[in-house]
Amino acid sequence: MANALTALHLQNEDAAFAYVEARLWPNGPTCPHCGGVERISRMGGKATRKGLHKCYHCRKQFTVRQGTIFESSHVPLNVWLQAIFLIASSKKGISSHQLQRTLGVTLKTAWFLSHRVREAMSDNGLDMLGGEGKVVEVDETFFGRLDDVPQARGGFTHKKKVLSLVERGTGRARSVKIEAVTMGEILPIVRANIARETHIMTDEHPVYKKLGLEFAAHSAVFHGVGEYARGKAHTNTIEGFFSIFKRGMRGVYQHCREKHLHRYLAEFDFRYSNRIATGCDDVERADRMLRGVVGKRLKYA
Ligand SMILES: [Zn+2]
Repeated sequence: MANALTALHLQNEDAAFAYVEARLWPNGPTCPHCGGVERISRMGGKATRKGLHKCYHCRKQFTVRQGTIFESSHVPLNVWLQAIFLIASSKKGISSHQLQRTLGVTLKTAWFLSHRVREAMSDNGLDMLGGEGKVVEVDETFFGRLDDVPQARGGFTHKKKVLSLVERGTGRARSVKIEAVTMGEILPIVRANIARETHIMTDEHPVYKKLGLEFAAHSAVFHGVGEYARGKAHTNTIEGFFSIFKRGMRGVYQHCREKHLHRYLAEFDFRYSNRIATGCDDVERADRMLRGVVGKRLKYA
């Protein structure tokens, strides 16, 4: 097997530009200012910025970084691609401290790089999971501790709460931060993200009781009475997803603040949805992340 880290686009910035341009501009350069595609020239010369193009419709200049998570960053494009590859290929994620050491950048830069890359992994949530003949498992998980809430002796009130929807087989995962396990929190998320023709699989929690009326079918697993994994009525798929997610949040991202949790969820969802079992290797996963960089420029960073 080839060593993926020796790929030229990870080593050399000119090669990185060629690599990104080929993927973001499959039909040739597109002007981000006016949308023009025809009268565009690549600017040459030693003093010119890498990847610089000029549009002769609107007479403005641009590079492929414009309008993407790479915009207004001084980090060389091949280092961006290294960060993308490392995050794409680390099953439980990779900490900013590890990225700092591996990429030789400051901790602040490592943090910004990784949050922007997570933004590239977020799906728009517009399409539905499931469909006819499909099974989607729905469950909540609790972990860590909410910001500024004291540790409680029992119960889950002080913990972070996440609702995940995981389609069986080669399907995808979608996770949402929730405030509480109530019908008011959970049902709108289920309705907005799962096709009506789907067979829904949950545990016996009463918040899921009504789902049978709205979806093709609903099965509930009664964990307490030996029904675990009997035939089709199980939630093993989502439990496998939670197991990776929790190991990552405990071992790698233990300092995650609540306001950033949705980005970490996007990261775990993305790697799960583009996992080996779906025919996606590390290189292909990094390429799919790269296609998500457009239109995701972060305001705060
Ligand atoms: Zn233009």
